[in-house]
Amino acid sequence: MDPTLEVILRISAAAAVFAAMAAWEIFAPRRDLTVGRKPRWPSNIGILIVDAVAVRLIIPTAAVGVALLAAERGWGLFNLLGLPGWFSGVLGFVVLDLIIYAQHIMFHYVPVLWRLHRMHHADLDIDVTTGVRFHPLEILLSMLIKIAAVLALGIPAVAVVLFEVVLNATSMFNHSNVAMPPRLDRVIRWLVVTPDMHRVHHSIERRETDSNFGFNLPWWDRLFGTYRPQPEAGHDRMTIGIPFFRDPGELRLDRLLTQPFRNDRARVHDDAAARPPVAGAADT
Ligand SMILES: [Zn+2]
Ligand SMILES: [Zn+2]
Repeated sequence: MDPTLEVILRISAAAAVFAAMAAWEIFAPRRDLTVGRKPRWPSNIGILIVDAVAVRLIIPTAAVGVALLAAERGWGLFNLLGLPGWFSGVLGFVVLDLIIYAQHIMFHYVPVLWRLHRMHHADLDIDVTTGVRFHPLEILLSMLIKIAAVLALGIPAVAVVLFEVVLNATSMFNHSNVAMPPRLDRVIRWLVVTPDMHRVHHSIERRETDSNFGFNLPWWDRLFGTYRPQPEAGHDRMTIGIPFFRDPGELRLDRLLTQPFRNDRARVHDDAAARPPVAGAADT
């Protein structure tokens, strides 16, 4: 694929989905925002730009460049098995999605990785811009994992580009603060992760945070027992975020970048939220 065409495809698809979801949020919001757009949108969009520049500078070939190389040299399992191109593409797409699901679980349970990923969860509201709010170190690590998968399996470049475009779109969709008829949600969430399904993952309740890890295909959560249909407090009353970095000052771009390297002195309780509170532990 022509590299210029690829960039145009990526940017125009992302911009179209962003505009559609932002409009839907304005005309049919799902819940009232707690802190609103003004303190959040410049930082959340700012971090998207930082992420794009970081990947471009540090891993300029990205996953698609590695996919082209693997195809040229015949590297990877799918190439070795001589699978038909369309089959490698479909299989590659599904396997990449499973890897992203597994990686997401790893980012929750490995403490050093949770430090990077919790910045995504520290947003005090959830809307379309939360879908692009990831720490650049998480994005770079995620890119390296994707590159390893593409190399090991020999996933075709077209499937890699399509996967990235679709994942970007579904991430913006499932973070959106949009109202959808419950019956429609029930049908759609068999095909793709819906906003109501992913919102459970942004609950302050740790057992809810540690569920619904899927970003795109909803099947993995149901298959591996991490699916939770609704938040216990209901979508309107649930608290979004994590027990720390709840000061609105933490929504600034520079604060987002340094959150992995800081502890929040004002946190409600310890990082391992399941532990019973210990006297005097709240201010440690
Ligand atoms: Zn998460
Ligand atoms: Zn999320």
